[in-house]
Amino acid sequence: MKYIRFLKDEKIKYGLLEKDNIVREIIGDIFNNYKTTEKVYSLSEISFLPPCIPSKIIAVGLNYFDHANELQMKIPDEPLIFMKPPSALIAHNDNIIYPKMSKQLDYEAELAVIIKNRIKDIEPEDVLVNILGYTCFNDVTARDLQKKDEQWTRAKSFDTFAPVGPFISTELNPDNLEIRLYKNGQLMQDSSTSNMIFKVDKIVSYISKIMTLFPGDIIATGTPPGVGQLKAGDIVEVEIEGIGVLKNKVILEKE
Ligand code: MG
Repeated sequence: MKYIRFLKDEKIKYGLLEKDNIVREIIGDIFNNYKTTEKVYSLSEISFLPPCIPSKIIAVGLNYFDHANELQMKIPDEPLIFMKPPSALIAHNDNIIYPKMSKQLDYEAELAVIIKNRIKDIEPEDVLVNILGYTCFNDVTARDLQKKDEQWTRAKSFDTFAPVGPFISTELNPDNLEIRLYKNGQLMQDSSTSNMIFKVDKIVSYISKIMTLFPGDIIATGTPPGVGQLKAGDIVEVEIEGIGVLKNKVILEKE
């Protein structure tokens, strides 16, 4: 099942994806109960919105063995987490704004987990039933500012630095999904979530022992090797097996 949140006739709606290009409108709450309707749209007649509204976005740094090897960094013994603000969210087909404050904007393809229930202090074996589904995420980063600042907040938090979508896909095994990133059609990142140092169940359990997670909260699970720079005009696409392609264009911040 794939959930989509979208704009049609200036109204925010939820739907289910059918046959790869048809959206069936639903009424109700994707986290609890909803009803399908007779209203259907083609994907070309709707505008994508971020597929959920999180109270927070938590991200994991350095979570792929192959990426840690690439950076010649030691394997961490517990997840390194940081946050991005919900104000940074954009949807599939929205523009990433290259801020004037930065001289090095990087992409990072990541699998994002969407939390289903309010959870706190749960064990890894109780995690999967509390996940609604998975989506594509681009942890856009002002790398020069990340290196300059001791805290990562500025580097990770500009508006548009959290592209997410296009769909929330349920019934996936998050531990073995192909993950790729294309820049202007060229393959830049190509790995599998099987290379994660901390798997989804461990990450969500770990974070739940720190903070209460709410329905719709987004957890970005780290990026594989091949991270690189973006410039104005670039088209960046994150593709994850069983989910789809999250596509965004980079534009310069207005003077
Ligand atoms: Mg990242």
